[in-house]
Amino acid sequence: MTIAPQPCQALAELPQPTIKSGGYCRKCRCEHRLGQGNTLSSCQHLMGLFTEHGTIDLFSGGAPGAPTLATDWLFGPARGKMFGILDCVGPDGATTTLRAFSGQYNGHWLADGWVPPLFDVDEFLAQSQATEPLIKALGLQIDACRGHGGRWLALRKERRHLSRQLMQELHGLYRLTNFREETATLGEVFLGSTGIPTGTGDCCAPKLLNYAARHKLRPVGLSEFYWGRENHSGTRRQGSLCGSCEDKCRPILGFMLCGLDM
Ligand SMILES: [Zn+2]
Ligand SMILES: [Zn+2]
Repeated sequence: MTIAPQPCQALAELPQPTIKSGGYCRKCRCEHRLGQGNTLSSCQHLMGLFTEHGTIDLFSGGAPGAPTLATDWLFGPARGKMFGILDCVGPDGATTTLRAFSGQYNGHWLADGWVPPLFDVDEFLAQSQATEPLIKALGLQIDACRGHGGRWLALRKERRHLSRQLMQELHGLYRLTNFREETATLGEVFLGSTGIPTGTGDCCAPKLLNYAARHKLRPVGLSEFYWGRENHSGTRRQGSLCGSCEDKCRPILGFMLCGLDM
């Protein structure tokens, strides 16, 4: 019944779509899944645009691309990133193709033509900007400590506490909507006994599905591909297609896909 983890595959190795994304749904007591549909040609098209224009600022209507949205960034120390395509059908029967980048793009949560994250960006920034300087200041005090005595330990404990608290506050800002028109927080949805990993909800699949559900679009195909310098372990190479991730996406995708196959 469970979906086996799927290794990333090169586009050319895929004669037909084979990757499915999904997860377990508590409510229906089964897995909900979504296949690639006809998204491979849109992936190829987007890769072509990256190569041709050297930017992800492709949809802002003719203005010169923002330098921070250049694809050069994906080939530097930050390394590559996942990009996603979701084909949807609207209430009028028209097909819409949605695009997403995972996480932030070089400091941007928002960019024209790309779906937004699962939280209100202003609220998110206000929350992090309130606490991050405190965490940084503690770091400086920790570095300034002579030896690893009681004060060093206490400061480290305080910093860990603050970081955890901030992460919980930030996770509290995420709102996940599914195809039953239900909305929930990460904490309410996440399946698993371990904590919610950093970056949960920031991958392409949840961003795309959330946007579709909120705009009454019915997804019919999902693909995620990697673009840029290969990752440290070498498992993700430029142009390879990957299924949704095991640790962050799988525990929330059952909820997010719920209602789609009704
Ligand atoms: Zn993921
Ligand atoms: Zn369900």
